[in-house]
Amino acid sequence: MKLVTIAGTRPEIIKLAYLVPLLNTHFDHKFVYTGQHFSPNMSDIFIDELNVKPDYDLQSNTSDIPIIRDKLFSLLRDLNPDYVVVYGDTNSSMAAALAARDINSKIIHVEAGVRDFDLHVPEEPLRIQIDEMSDYLFSPSNFCTTVLSYENTRGKIFTTGNLVVDVCKDLSKIANSRKISDSMPKEYLLLTLHRPENVDNQQNLKLLMNHISSTDYPVMFPVHPRTRKNLENFNIQVPSNVTIMNPLGYMDFLALMSNSKLILTDSGGIQEESITIKKPCITLRHTSARWETILLKANILFPPDREDNLHEVIKAMINAKINKNPYGENVAQKIVEILKTELT
Ligand code: UDP
Repeated sequence: MKLVTIAGTRPEIIKLAYLVPLLNTHFDHKFVYTGQHFSPNMSDIFIDELNVKPDYDLQSNTSDIPIIRDKLFSLLRDLNPDYVVVYGDTNSSMAAALAARDINSKIIHVEAGVRDFDLHVPEEPLRIQIDEMSDYLFSPSNFCTTVLSYENTRGKIFTTGNLVVDVCKDLSKIANSRKISDSMPKEYLLLTLHRPENVDNQQNLKLLMNHISSTDYPVMFPVHPRTRKNLENFNIQVPSNVTIMNPLGYMDFLALMSNSKLILTDSGGIQEESITIKKPCITLRHTSARWETILLKANILFPPDREDNLHEVIKAMINAKINKNPYGENVAQKIVEILKTELT
């Protein structure tokens, strides 16, 4: 049975870090990187740290779906896999599902059933289409499985949990004691921002910086390249309580997360990691695709146009007791066991 797994971005490399070696062991398997994220600090560092070398690197250097689909089509036609494994909802994932269909390969979607319930969110139509096209859907939580059952999905659904849990839990134990800088405050909040609705919109980015200035806590802010560019273009100053730094490798980022008091983010993956390592999270958006974390009160929404004082929300969240994990464990092993039974 021939399988090809396709990834193209930082979060996909991280989340696939345990699954790829297991698939290599149990199947005739190739790992393909599209190069949607292409700067060294958004891709190479993760491939090296997590030791998930792609068998093929397409170096697309773009997020354009038709360009990535064409490149994948040529490769997949040569490799001729029975199944293509697609992760999540990036442009690379969409291109991979389309290219898999072009060569009549079956599709396995890992992280199926994730929804913001807002079609204006750029990933939402992609997730829905990939789920519709898939033959096997591996859902990260009972919540996502329920969503898929309501949508009457054609493929076979399995609740496996979220791959990030094991990677993040294991590596944060090792990363915990890493020193990020000599001048780290003892207590701090961690901030990340990269979503277009927050960082490409001058007003929202300004509002968010104003909210962040309302807190007494020092804030550590590894800045995504897109956000840094827009802070400069819009001439927005970061508040004086914020320390900015370049995007970090995974081990350094886990160290920064593990030692923080609370996480402010618009990232999907970081909302999952926050609950995994039991850190309270405030999601700086009007919606989220991680409803499990909100229902469990480990996470709360705070969109830029909210008029409340962010510091008060931080004070209310900072001592939240987080003792449930909605995302399972031993997820890569579970997925491989299901594939061994189903595909043979
Ligand atoms: N991350 C990292 N270094 C950073 C910021 C984030 O290693 O400086 C990791 C983070 O731990 C998570 C992933 O990158 O696993 C999230 O990626 P991103 O926010 O770009 O994407 P999303 O999860 O929103 O799709």
